Amino acid sequence: MSTKSKIALVTGGSRGLGRAMVLSLAKNGNNIIFTYHSNKEEADNVIAEIISLGQKAVAYPLDVSKLTTFDHFIHQISQHLTEHEGNPNFDFLINNAGTGVYGSVTDTTEEAFDAMVNIHFKGVYFLTQKLLPLLRNGGRIVNISSGLTRVSFPNVSAYAAVKGAIETYTRCLAKELGSRQITANTVAPGAIATDFGGGANKTDETKRNTIAGITALGRVGEPEDIGGVVAFLCTPEAGWLNGQRIELSGGMMV
Ligand code: NDP
Repeated sequence: MSTKSKIALVTGGSRGLGRAMVLSLAKNGNNIIFTYHSNKEEADNVIAEIISLGQKAVAYPLDVSKLTTFDHFIHQISQHLTEHEGNPNFDFLINNAGTGVYGSVTDTTEEAFDAMVNIHFKGVYFLTQKLLPLLRNGGRIVNISSGLTRVSFPNVSAYAAVKGAIETYTRCLAKELGSRQITANTVAPGAIATDFGGGANKTDETKRNTIAGITALGRVGEPEDIGGVVAFLCTPEAGWLNGQRIELSGGMMV
């Protein structure tokens, strides 16, 4: 283990895009803290993969919609970092965790709407706020948005709208954190084959063919299409990239 390793904190690192992100970050020589929601077994598998890449890893359960749990979570990671790295600071924050709900404007319930706001916007806003004292000057924030902020489809209004809020929030972060040399960018994936939203991007051949047909590169995205770019955003070479929305969709509806 190199003592020069930087530390990345990724929410929802146990599956899907987050898993690809933590593995790419580990391949780049970073130590990893990640969160999972309920699936500890998947999280333990990812820890083992990271360790096999020669980096340190630890995972904590976190529901990003439950703001009252954030202080306890931050206490846990502060203690862990102080014990294992000598201080409670980390370098890269990747706000990735989340689920989707589908429903028309007419059908979306207040409960479903609130879930989207709490998971994808309010949770990201206040988790970031509470972690800022631990994020090193010169660090990076990457917030995960969606291709659905640029193009619209039926039945995604609540989800797409809160992802739009995240993009605006991220530009504000870039402005306010510039004095600390911290950059903030959004990555907006197109349709990626994960368990997200019931896993249709993985298993529904009709949907997969439709996505392939509207994508210049002619296929559905894979988690690895996203993970490497997020890891790149945490390299010195990406240091001048700030306040941007980077769409990773293989050219969806361009
Ligand atoms: P997955 O369903 O594959 O993975 C979701 C991850 O988030 C898991 O680690 C899960 O933990 C965790 N998680 C779920 N709900 C919560 C919660 N309430 N609090 C904390 N953690 C939670 O999803 P993806 O990897 O596909 O999605 C990751 C991000 O990418 C999301 O923000 C999503 O909106 C975005 N995105 C996804 C796209 C896609 O097509 N897949 C397209 C565009 C954006 P556990 O395993 O324990 O349940």
